Amino acid sequence: MTTTQKTALVTGANKGIGYAIAEALGRLGHRVVLGARDDAAGADAAARLVAQGIDASALRLDVTSDASVAAAAGELADRVGTLDVLVNNAGVSGAFDPVTWGQDPTTIDLDVLRGVVDTNVYGVIRVTNAMLPLLRRSDAPRIVNTSSSMGSLGRQPGPVMAVYSSSKTFLNGVTVQYARAFADTPVIVNAACPGLVATDFNGFAGDRTPEQGAATAVRLATLPDDGPRGGFFEDDGVVPW
Ligand code: NAP
Repeated sequence: MTTTQKTALVTGANKGIGYAIAEALGRLGHRVVLGARDDAAGADAAARLVAQGIDASALRLDVTSDASVAAAAGELADRVGTLDVLVNNAGVSGAFDPVTWGQDPTTIDLDVLRGVVDTNVYGVIRVTNAMLPLLRRSDAPRIVNTSSSMGSLGRQPGPVMAVYSSSKTFLNGVTVQYARAFADTPVIVNAACPGLVATDFNGFAGDRTPEQGAATAVRLATLPDDGPRGGFFEDDGVVPW
């Protein structure tokens, strides 16, 4: 590792869009740490990147567990000391109708909602706050929250997904508040929409590849110091809130 090499942590990086983000950042020369809640899956994903010549390693990280997140932050402090990029990518949809993709608010299961919010929103807050001391040691810290246009109140695309879409709307709101809190600091935080990507998440129904889905997050993870703050972006530009 050279002293100028940047370190990036991607949560939920053992597969799908998270893996593609780690791969792309690795190819840009970042040292990538793949957060994964399953040790074997994380190690396997990291090995595939190492085989490509990427500086990659796995880190046990369940974003819903305070203990796991605290342990991961401690481990990362020992391993790298400084974190330049955090991509909060881990996410779940909650059960939905496999035909309509619907999540009906009138019959919503509050336990499912709690679980999805715990991962997609509280998980982001948990990980961000735990990693912040390491990020503050970087000259140019970048945080990217993987959101979705499904959470856009202005766009409201696709089926009614009362659980998943609402969690991403919540995440967008949290992203804006972090950006406001970081306004006078070098920490830049934004939200990224990957588009509809073929992954386990949707039974591989998306029309985009994980590599295409990773592109906006990678751009936001490598923004210059005068880059945008507190925004919501996709390939074509800004997603309406
Ligand atoms: P995916 O292939 O299902 O990957 C999700 C990743 O999140 C997996 O690595 C999964 O780990 C991890 N994860 C879930 N819960 C976790 C937890 N508690 N702790 C740590 N990791 C956890 O889905 P994906 O499509 O790549 O989704 C990645 C992100 O993109 C999500 O935030 C999703 O909402 C967002 N997104 C996806 C699409 C799309 O079309 N695919 C569109 C818009 C936004 P396991 O392997 O252990 O389950």
